[in-house]
Amino acid sequence: MCNNKFVFVVCCLAAVTASASPLVKDGKPIGEFVLPAEATGAESFAANDVCGWIQKITGAEVPIVSKPSEQANTKVFVGTAFANVFPDDLKRLQGNDGFAVRRRGDNVYVFGSRPRGTLYGLYALLEKNSDLIFARPHADFGTVHGQSPDFELTETDFIDIPVFLNRRFGPNWPKHRPTGEWLLRNRDNTRDVRANYDGFMKLDLIEPYGTNFAVPIASHQDEHPEYFGYDPIKKSRRFVKHGEGTMCLSVPGLPAIWAQGLADDVARHEARFGRKVEHVRLGPGDNWFCCQCEECVAPLTLPDGTQLQCKDPDSIKDPLFRSTQIMMFINEAMETWQTLRPQTPIHVLAYIHFAEPPRVAPHPDLGIWFAPYPTSNLHFPLLDPRQPEPWRSRFAKWLTMTDRLGFYEYYEAKPSPQAFYAAANLRAVMQRPDHSNALIYAETSNDFGTDGIGNGEFGWDVGQMNLWVHTRLFWDPTQDVDALYRYYIKRTYREAAPQMLAYYDLIKTSWLSPDNDTFSSCHASIAGVYKGLIVERGLEKECMRLLTEAEAAAKHPHSKTMIRRMREQYEGFSKDMARLMVAHIQEIRGEADDFDSLQWEKPMVNDDFQLVTREGEEPPAFSSTKLQAAHDGESLHLRFRLEGPPAERAGRSASHTERWPQGDHVEFWLVEGRTRYVFAFNADGVQYDAKNLDRSWDSNWDLNVRSTSTGWEAIASIPLSTFSFAAGQPTNVRWFCTREIHQEGQPSKEVSCQGKPLYYRNFPIVIE
Ligand SMILES: [Zn+2]
Repeated sequence: MCNNKFVFVVCCLAAVTASASPLVKDGKPIGEFVLPAEATGAESFAANDVCGWIQKITGAEVPIVSKPSEQANTKVFVGTAFANVFPDDLKRLQGNDGFAVRRRGDNVYVFGSRPRGTLYGLYALLEKNSDLIFARPHADFGTVHGQSPDFELTETDFIDIPVFLNRRFGPNWPKHRPTGEWLLRNRDNTRDVRANYDGFMKLDLIEPYGTNFAVPIASHQDEHPEYFGYDPIKKSRRFVKHGEGTMCLSVPGLPAIWAQGLADDVARHEARFGRKVEHVRLGPGDNWFCCQCEECVAPLTLPDGTQLQCKDPDSIKDPLFRSTQIMMFINEAMETWQTLRPQTPIHVLAYIHFAEPPRVAPHPDLGIWFAPYPTSNLHFPLLDPRQPEPWRSRFAKWLTMTDRLGFYEYYEAKPSPQAFYAAANLRAVMQRPDHSNALIYAETSNDFGTDGIGNGEFGWDVGQMNLWVHTRLFWDPTQDVDALYRYYIKRTYREAAPQMLAYYDLIKTSWLSPDNDTFSSCHASIAGVYKGLIVERGLEKECMRLLTEAEAAAKHPHSKTMIRRMREQYEGFSKDMARLMVAHIQEIRGEADDFDSLQWEKPMVNDDFQLVTREGEEPPAFSSTKLQAAHDGESLHLRFRLEGPPAERAGRSASHTERWPQGDHVEFWLVEGRTRYVFAFNADGVQYDAKNLDRSWDSNWDLNVRSTSTGWEAIASIPLSTFSFAAGQPTNVRWFCTREIHQEGQPSKEVSCQGKPLYYRNFPIVIE
């Protein structure tokens, strides 16, 4: 019995050894990669890249040949050209960019039905047969792998087919090659014209053409101004500017003219880049403006004969009317489009007012690209009852209206485990019959610099594991999210995996806890999410202990660097929760005083305002004061959202002398050394500024106030030249803000940043 068992074990070991195909032994290459004589760009790029990583692991340069050698060694045959002996696999891979890896004797075959399928297959072969992970793009420390004198292929029999055929993280602008390469290695498949890296042109990536609604008719501006949106306030038409514009949707015949213009633009793009456009992406651009000519605000007669009234010409107030109007226009244009470019599908970005599902069904050949922007909560799946309206209803409605429903998401870096949100939503769209052709897209930052809403590489420091898991879910969202995180952690942190797994369990438990309702969105500050995820749950000490221990336990220098950077970011947040981030938003110039401008969705929200209390007194929950800051190179714009009890109105004084604002009011202080500036105002628009309490000093600042259903709001614009502020430059100027709330018959209350009394503390400012 014992002997039999022994024999059995030996046989198994022998079988394992026999089934391995060695490529490197004792630091010497003994196998080879075989490329077809006329290899495609994607095949040779990936073969060279993978051999480069094998060399980094083993020190050996495995040859890449175009003619197999006579040697009886391991040969990895790369590409569709060698795959004829696997007709069943090729059949399954037809029409998608999946891949298969098969072995016959000493020969290993890696192939897709097209070059990029083979490319993904080569990276899968590398990953499955080593301990390597492309953890993040960073050129210095983003990839983690061990060292070994041997490299053998033991996993040589698998096939993997993606659920979604259009996968993209972007925009990758300004272009950053390591981020582009990381995306390719993690199965991103769409080229971005703006992220046009050297050599990437040849890599068999999907070629999209993206444009905004009015651009296809831009050339008609001089001859036919009536094609463009009418603005009754300015009594003029709004033409295409900076790639954005608005059409008049009531001009008879315009849908056909528009479709022809779009076809011409696509043809020009193809001529310029020498590549065939595979799909068109249309969007409304970053504006809410819609034509307000008489015809465009008249009731719409729907295809079923019923009428839809325009409740308000403002698309913010009546998005349904506008989305229905746009959909009817595009549906009509589709008739012309399909005679011009029947093979090129159009996907429409359901964004801004067009995120509202229209009253008419989309043309069956249109894809809908849903952007739950900017107020969806990335904490709860879109269909979760806790997801704020209108996003839950909008998503549920779109799911019933189109078979090709995709996403335009904003997966900017956050410390919270966001992938649970992503997986649930992607699984929901999988219920639609044509889901594989939907566009699956998310905005992310490049792993470079500190710019953008994702904070560049600082964002990656805290959110890197999410982004990697997202790439896997874009391929196949049915995978176990928790298992993907754990796989990532084990490969990325290696010896520190036990501590990092404990850290992950800590944040996962906090985030998925039913009573954690922390709001997260792309514009929610990382520090704010950190606060709701860690600080407010009393986990900060434990979190820091785990990260500190993980850093000590990590042996691989890249693992150690990544843990250290995460810990340092978190320490920064806890120290500096109250720093005022002044976002650099060029586009806000000229519209900063517009409360409805979408540009105001971009700056971070500072909402750490609390009742000012004496020491030892527990401050009651009070978070109805919010501050955002932005600049456009000329002015500093501050937006205050002041919710709470109705403001006790003091009225405007008849006097023209500058007076301290009475009643409910806000004081915004800037402190530079010993110089103190104050900008004070109330809900009636009374404004006061002073330097060192001298009110004759004048900064020429503008103020705009309005009442809201929950309180009031103000936007202040102060010339940047007043202070030593310059874009991207550090500043010694610090800030403080306090608000006095008056309610009739009650003592007034004071709310301030972090609940500190005036002069007690002020906080740093970062001018982006
Ligand atoms: Zn019109």
